[in-house]
Order: sequence, then structure tokens, then C-alpha cells
Amino acid sequence: MEPANLNTIGLMGGMSSAATAAYYEIINQKVKTVKGGHNIAEIIICSVNFAVIEQYIREEAWEEAAHYLVEKAERLEAAGVSCIFLGTNTMHRVREQIKAAISIPFIDIFETVSAEIKSQGKSTIGLLGTYPVMSDNFFVQAYQDCGIEVMTPSEEEKKEIDRIIFEELTQHQINATAKAYYLEVIRKMAAQGAEGVILGCTEIKLLVQQEDIPEVPLFDTLELHCEKAARICMGEAP
Ligand code: GLU
Repeated sequence: MEPANLNTIGLMGGMSSAATAAYYEIINQKVKTVKGGHNIAEIIICSVNFAVIEQYIREEAWEEAAHYLVEKAERLEAAGVSCIFLGTNTMHRVREQIKAAISIPFIDIFETVSAEIKSQGKSTIGLLGTYPVMSDNFFVQAYQDCGIEVMTPSEEEKKEIDRIIFEELTQHQINATAKAYYLEVIRKMAAQGAEGVILGCTEIKLLVQQEDIPEVPLFDTLELHCEKAARICMGEAP
């Protein structure tokens, strides 16, 4: 088997180690499935300290977060990657600052996910994620700009979904009660008119997958971002 000629992509964290590991595993699997043999992706990963990120999220310290992540993006660009993936929905809050600091393509998670939603002819979608993703108008607007209307859970549900992300999923803990809770919220959103639900946090896939709830189309941001990463790695123009 001939080694494939691959583009080197850049990945900035997930940003917990659980999501970063999942990006690495899934992108490699996808490249291997297409190219065969021992072919896997060429990736330069910038893994960050998730404690720093968690603090920025809790304090809504977006300017400090931008400063921290811009420096990482600049390092990846200097290392020679062809494009940058930021492996988290929440930290796309500072995507404009990152884009402005680099001269290589930034592969936006919202654009990637919206393109898939539209290709399936859907436009009104439920959104699960961290508390800021479900509450800060920035994220609703980001999807609206891509032609997607999002529905979000109740305030109480947002808090519990966020708690599970930070106390369990990012700590590599997968619990049956958390899974049942997420599935209940997804079913409720579908009953309220959502044509599908965005798993808008890159750790949710560790808990919930499409086969758990075949009746509601899921748009998994981790999976779709990884699909895009594998395709760019294998030669699709960013
Ligand atoms: N990975 C999560 C997301 O997709 C949350 C934690 C983080 O910001 O990295 O939003």
C-alpha cells in the first residue's frame, strides 16, 4: 500500500482531553477508511490546559480567552499547518479574533454543521451545548447567519446539561443517568418542533449517539468537524 500524500491540518484542543482524543481518533479512522493500509492523518495538535479554558468560560472572560487562543493559533500557523480546526463550540465565541490573527483558513464549526443541516433540507433545530452555547445570543446568531433557526432547552435543563459536560464528560465519566437525561431533553425538543438536534459540544458524542435515538436526526458537531478535517487532510481544498 502506497503512503497517501496528505495535507497537514492543525487542531486546537477539544478543549478537554476527552474531546481532543476523540478528534484525533475519529480523524485518523476516517483517513484510514478511505486511504487504507497504515495511512492516518497528518495533524499538528495544540492541546491546551482545560482548567484555563474552564475558568474563561465561567468568568465569560472572552478577551482573555481570545488572547490565549490567538497565541496557540499563531504557533500552529508557524508550524506549517494548512488550516486550523478549533475543536470546541464554546470557544468559537472568539473565532473572529483568531481568524484575524492568522492567514490560513479557519474551519468554522457552525458553517460546517449548518451546511449539513441545510443539505438535509432542515432549518429549525434544537441546540445542546455548554451554558453559554445555549444562552449567549452570539451562538444563536452564528447559526442564524448560516440560515438555521435554533431552539434551546429550558433554563433548568441548560444548567443540568452544562453540569454534566463539566462535571462528567470532560472528566471522561459516562453515566447512564446523564445519558437518559440528554435523550429525554432531545425527545422533548423534537416534540416541540425541532427537526433535529445539534450536539453542540464536542464531548456529547461520548454520551449520546444517533443509534440511541434513531427517531430524531442528530447533528454531531464533533463528527461533522472531523469529517471535514479528514477530507481537507486528504486533499479537499479548505
Ligand atoms: N468542548 C465543549 C464545546 O464544544 C466545551 C468545553 C470547551 O470549551 O472546550 O463547547
